[in-house]
Amino acid sequence: MDGNDQYAWVFAPQGQQTAYPSAPPLSQPSWQSTSQTPQQPSSPNSAYNSQPTPASNWAQLPPCPGSTLVQSWSWYGFENLVICPSCWASFASSTPLARLAPLQNLPIAEPRMCCLYSPRMRALWIEAGTNPSPAAVQQLLDFSLMRLDVYSATVPTVNYLRHQLMLQRSQAMHLSQMSTMYQGMDSMKIIAGTTDQYHEYGNNQLGWFRTEHGATSAQFEMERRVAVARADDPGTLAVIAELEARWMAVE
Ligand SMILES: [Zn+2]
Repeated sequence: MDGNDQYAWVFAPQGQQTAYPSAPPLSQPSWQSTSQTPQQPSSPNSAYNSQPTPASNWAQLPPCPGSTLVQSWSWYGFENLVICPSCWASFASSTPLARLAPLQNLPIAEPRMCCLYSPRMRALWIEAGTNPSPAAVQQLLDFSLMRLDVYSATVPTVNYLRHQLMLQRSQAMHLSQMSTMYQGMDSMKIIAGTTDQYHEYGNNQLGWFRTEHGATSAQFEMERRVAVARADDPGTLAVIAELEARWMAVE
C-alpha cells in the first residue's frame, strides 16, 4: 500500500469509507482516535466545515506563534501539519480540508510549530482543498514533512549562531566599557602625579604605559577587537545566510 491509502482510510467520513481504497493503516498513531473523526454527512467537495470557531472568539485566542516552537499547546490539523488555534479559527476551519483533519484542539506536550502562519503553506492548503483527494492530502502532508525537516536542519542552527554573534557583540561592548574605565584611572593617576617614574607597564604587543591601568585598558581594548572580529566573522555570516536561504525556499 502507499500512504494515500492510509490517509483515505483514516480520514474518510463514516459511511463513505468504501469510496476510498480500504487498506488499513500500517500503524495507529495516538492521535488517530476515532472520536475525532468528523461526523459530517457531506461529500468531500460539498461543504465547508460547519463548526468553525465563531469570529467573536478569535480575539480571545493566543496569537499565532509563527515559526517559533511552542510547548504544551493545543493543535488542529494533521500530525505533520499542525495548526494553532488562531490560524484554525481565522483561516483553516472554514476550508474544505478542515473536515479531514484528525487533530481537533488536541493538547501536545512536545514543542511544535504552527504550519499555517506561512503564506506558502496556506496556498498549498487551499490548493489541496479544491479537490481533497487522498493523493492531494498526502502530497500536502509530504511537503509539510519535508518543510519541517528543512526547518530542523536550518533554523535552530541559525538561532544558535545568531545568539553566539550577539554574545560576542555584548562582550565587545563590555570590554569597551572596561577599557574606557581603566583609561580614566590611568589619566587620573598621571594627573595626580602618583605614577612610578621609573617603571613602565605593558608589553611589546600592548605597548608601554605609565600606569598599570593604562596597560589594563590596552588589554581590554585588544580583547574588544577580537570580540568584534568574531561578531562579524564572515564565515559564520556566510553559514547563516546559506541556512536561511534553504529555509526561506520552503518556508
Ligand atoms: Zn498559526
